[in-house]
Amino acid sequence: METELLNIEKVSPEEKAAALKKAGEIIREGGLVAFPTETVYGLGADALNAEASAKIYAAKGRPSDNPLIVHIHDVDQVYEIASEVPEAAKKVMEKFWPGPLTVILNKKSCVPDGTTGGLKTVAIRMPSHPLARDFIRESGRMIAAPSANTSGRPSPTLASHVYEDMQGRIPLILDGGAVGIGIESTIIDMSTDTPTILRPGYITKDMLEEVLPKVNIDPAVTGRTMKKNVVAKAPGMKYRHYAPKADMTLVEGDMDKVVAYINEQTKKAEAEGKKVGIICTEESQDMYQGGNLEVIGSREHEETVAHNLFAVLRDFDARKVDCIFSESFSKDQLGQAIMNRLLKAAGHKVAEV
Ligand code: AMP
Ligand code: MG
Repeated sequence: METELLNIEKVSPEEKAAALKKAGEIIREGGLVAFPTETVYGLGADALNAEASAKIYAAKGRPSDNPLIVHIHDVDQVYEIASEVPEAAKKVMEKFWPGPLTVILNKKSCVPDGTTGGLKTVAIRMPSHPLARDFIRESGRMIAAPSANTSGRPSPTLASHVYEDMQGRIPLILDGGAVGIGIESTIIDMSTDTPTILRPGYITKDMLEEVLPKVNIDPAVTGRTMKKNVVAKAPGMKYRHYAPKADMTLVEGDMDKVVAYINEQTKKAEAEGKKVGIICTEESQDMYQGGNLEVIGSREHEETVAHNLFAVLRDFDARKVDCIFSESFSKDQLGQAIMNRLLKAAGHKVAEV
């Protein structure tokens, strides 16, 4: 299959309309279209068409028990697919939609098991990216979409990342330029009595507690390792994720000790003939003596770290490093989401110094 890459960002209104029309036709015929959102690029299909969503699993090589998020452009669509919408969920949707928050609710039977991985709940999000909204509206469908990467690889934050992974597997990629936030949506389960964060993201627990009395965080979010006998609530939590090709170690501790440790390990690995990648920050970049540096962002502005995270992992793949050492970040607010992705990328390999 030829994969077409159509720019919808810096083109004339006519070109944009033609690209969206084509995308809508593909979706209505049960095909796949990759599209930009404010979090990462999504790989979309008609959410209520089981055969269409099955194609997402095939294109990504995704395990079939890992459910998809249904993307909508209008709040009323929630009532078409959710069997109950608690008052608390309405408050959250009103406050954070459109935006990077996914809400889990009990599903109606019209949502096929193929979209929810057999679960009785459905994950729903209304993105804020105007091109994502245009695409969903134009398709006339609700769009099931996980991140548009090959299963296990870093999520795509540029159309070129999607092309790298999906070339020859899907008919169309809508190129809307670089995404804004750079890490996937916060997922909150509102199908149970106490709302629980299953995946941390840009919308933090503190922000959610501005409208909800109490929010839990699923132990798997912060847990170093997922114990074998713990059942994953968001099935995605149990799989190795975001993994760069190189062996990655996350280094935690006081900044000077972290830098000293990475310098020492780099020297050792380079003496063995290995190519070493180092994930550093604007604040620390001058403190390294060897290795291949990627500046992930500034500690002063953690949103820059989130924005660059997946691209940095992909860049190290392209530079063919053998091992990667990464600095660590704060464990609250956005730092929690950043650490969650880095821990998964490192396969939970942590050096405490
Ligand atoms: P992705 O954005 O590619 O990580 O894929 C969607 C994420 O949403 C996965 O981690 C899923 O496990 C999670 N998800 C989707 N539907 C549900 C659901 N009904 N219950 C819990 N997690 C879900
Ligand atoms: Mg994903």
